[in-house]
Amino acid sequence: MSNHGDAEQIALACRVLAHQGLAEDILGHVSVRGDDDTLSVRCRGPRERGLLFTEAEDVHRIELEGTPRPPAGYAVPNELPIHREILLARPDVRVVVHVHPPAVVAADLAGLPLRPIIGAYNIPAMRLADRGIPVYPRGVLISSSELGKALAGTLGDAPVCVLRGHGIVATGETVAQAVVRALNLESLARMTLHATSSGNPVPELSEEDIAELPDLGPGFNDDLVWRSAVAKLEHAGH
Ligand SMILES: [Zn+2]
Repeated sequence: MSNHGDAEQIALACRVLAHQGLAEDILGHVSVRGDDDTLSVRCRGPRERGLLFTEAEDVHRIELEGTPRPPAGYAVPNELPIHREILLARPDVRVVVHVHPPAVVAADLAGLPLRPIIGAYNIPAMRLADRGIPVYPRGVLISSSELGKALAGTLGDAPVCVLRGHGIVATGETVAQAVVRALNLESLARMTLHATSSGNPVPELSEEDIAELPDLGPGFNDDLVWRSAVAKLEHAGH
């Protein structure tokens, strides 16, 4: 029902995101653009036990537009329009992650925007913040194409977006890139909450330091972090 390689990767991504605490219980999904105007997406099936227990059999390929027709016994996500509208609006995006990371949601609700406060602690996270992270201001379920289009409009050409009172969207060219962007946002949000908890002002990294930090490349930034996250998952028995 789905490109098997993509299905395996999507299932693994769901388990990694859940294991890292970005997807509590059953909420969240990952999609990958397929050939011929299709996408493969994590669906809810007869054995549904939450994201941590996603298997390749839970991933199905559907049309990018029109009435989705998953196999009997499976339901596409209520928030499928997130995936469809972003993939339609962004030809450069191949992978869409939607999860509900608690620190990102808490920091945004507390009025703490994700700013480039860190440096070498997590350079890719700093770069996401330095670029500016758009915030979709509504806490609704993105269950219609109108809402999906509005969200895609807020995302614009950014790699990630915060959904107020809800979660995040992280995009990428690869599953590893999109998942690691989600992990990095949550890491930055946790640090933002810790650093501001004293009540003292937390300065941004200086422009000089930002300019001096290297780009270590996708092999380091994405693939090694992804491999580490998968290893931790396997070590935990998932
Ligand atoms: Zn959601």
